[in-house]
Amino acid sequence: MNYLVTGGAGFIGSAVCRRLAADPANRVVNLDLLTYAGNLASLKSIEAQPNYRFVQGDIGDEALVLRLLREEKITVLMHLAAESHVDRSIDGPDAFVETNIVGTFRLLKAARAYWQELKGDARQRFRFHHVSTDEVFGDLPFDSGIFTEDTPYDPSSPYSASKAAADHLVRAWNRTYGLPVVMTNCSNNYGPFHYPEKLVPLIILTALDQRPLPVYGAGDNVRDWLHVDDHAAALECVAARGRLGASYNIGARAERRNIDVVRTICTLLDQRRPRPCGASHADLITMVPDRPGHDRRYAIDPARIEDELGWRPAHSFETGIAATIEWYLENEWWWRPLHDRQAGRRLGAGTPRE
Ligand code: NAD
Repeated sequence: MNYLVTGGAGFIGSAVCRRLAADPANRVVNLDLLTYAGNLASLKSIEAQPNYRFVQGDIGDEALVLRLLREEKITVLMHLAAESHVDRSIDGPDAFVETNIVGTFRLLKAARAYWQELKGDARQRFRFHHVSTDEVFGDLPFDSGIFTEDTPYDPSSPYSASKAAADHLVRAWNRTYGLPVVMTNCSNNYGPFHYPEKLVPLIILTALDQRPLPVYGAGDNVRDWLHVDDHAAALECVAARGRLGASYNIGARAERRNIDVVRTICTLLDQRRPRPCGASHADLITMVPDRPGHDRRYAIDPARIEDELGWRPAHSFETGIAATIEWYLENEWWWRPLHDRQAGRRLGAGTPRE
């Protein structure tokens, strides 16, 4: 397969590029603008491979996208590029509307123009895979409910509203123009190469610094956690075998309260990097005022992708989070420059993920 991955220098996109490029039968072209969230260091392990190519550019540049699609005879356009941080979307929604909505619109136009030129087998095989989030569904009560693919959209933040708008555009391009699309909506990811503004790396690195660990509100907001490599495997499955026009929810049935995620990280760090005099990293937990419009609970029903495509996560939350902590302990070369940049941010200005 010839893949064009957008946002391949980001957290999930880089995991996707590393996974796809591991198969020499695949060609992987990574189109990324390299915003603050894009990092070519995450792609060091594949950068010299002949089946991998990086192109710095904007998904909104239709001429560039069309040229790449033609030049590389792309079979799957996997679209991950986005502004992805909820807190940033509250402080400055403009970039979210521009990239996530207008950028996706322009990408769809380029993809349609390319698909219309294709003939025979190439036309049959082409698909546009749109990668989205469970946050488009809004939130759930603490004690009941689960997101299925049929749950009505009800986004809460500028980030999730912009992703919901993009999802609607993708569906419209399928229904109105017949563009062959597949879509996925995934729960919270964690794992290696995660930009340190998001909850898991923020807590690990701040704890290593012995600084206060900021947790929003009472810490009882619930997220459903998935290891990024399990997400990448699910995306490959859906791109290859997903039903055209269908969407698939991706999650590992791993709901955890934010405070419990933070405590788990603290307990593991107590074992790996004990604090002096028997103190625990959990002593550093500091509650900060809640995020406006903070969704209470997300929970994904992954039955469709499990039943139709046989996908299963390889990591439990416990094994995945322990492996993630080990990765951060062993890869300071990767996170140190980003963390030092982040450390300037005031306490509470960037707490839990999304
Ligand atoms: P990220 O912020 O780590 O990476 C986004 C990447 O997109 C960056 O490399 C950035 O440089 C690039 N980018 C931004 N604007 C661009 C533009 N105009 N043109 C080209 N590239 C551009 O994000 P992530 O966490 O890896 O998320 C990837 C996708 O998965 C997003 O669409 C996000 O909505 C979705 N998603 C994320 C999660 C999660 O837990 N992180 C969960 C579900 C879905």
